[in-house]
Amino acid sequence: MAAVPRLGGVSVAPVGGRGTATPSVGDGPQAVLFDMDGTLVETEEYWGEAMFGLAASLGGRMSPEARAATVGTSMRRAMEVLHADLGVVRTETQLQADAGWIEDRVAELMAGSGIPWRPGARELLAAVRDAGTATALVTTTPRRLAALVLASIAADLGADPFHVTVCGDEVPARKPDPAPYLQAAASLGVDPAGCVVVEDSLVGVTAGLAAGMAVLGVPALQTLPPAPGLTLRETLAGIGLADLAEVLVAR
Ligand SMILES: [Mg+2]
Repeated sequence: MAAVPRLGGVSVAPVGGRGTATPSVGDGPQAVLFDMDGTLVETEEYWGEAMFGLAASLGGRMSPEARAATVGTSMRRAMEVLHADLGVVRTETQLQADAGWIEDRVAELMAGSGIPWRPGARELLAAVRDAGTATALVTTTPRRLAALVLASIAADLGADPFHVTVCGDEVPARKPDPAPYLQAAASLGVDPAGCVVVEDSLVGVTAGLAAGMAVLGVPALQTLPPAPGLTLRETLAGIGLADLAEVLVAR
């Protein structure tokens, strides 16, 4: 009878080590930082529907190109793109009112239609949590709306899986500025070089790379051009901790 083969040479080093040594596959990421809209949850359609609705109320139609250009951006930037696309001039007060209208509409759509996961996102987030790896949500969306998504995620997973959440109204500058990701890493007490960012938009990928982090890009509504430090996948379905470790060393 043949001997039971041993798992010789297989490294099973725990994921999530907080050491300061150069990251390797065996160490895994110190932290995984997730974007929200379009990455974890299927909410970009709601933002799109809200913006098309606002455009209609202003007497115009937003072009698909302009809509695509707003993905992942701040509310102010999105309103500027929309107004320019329609050829309308809005005062600062009107811009703020338009932004508020969009937020109300997105909240309404979330409440009425639910907050579906992106493919594979639930499984990956649960795997990161179960491994004890530090994790953060880093979104440009204001806290008021992010709280709705966080509540939905927490209800589905049984608890809030994030150690830190950073929202668009809590940072000195928004993506593509690295500030939101650096703020999350500082709050977690981890080295940016040991972090993996998961993003769907160009501004988000740009922010993660500018923060000195490795980025897993899962494009949804935008094409993501190749960049040093960026690993591209079509979907999060089937992505696990070992893949995140590879993202870290692939840059
Ligand atoms: Mg996004």
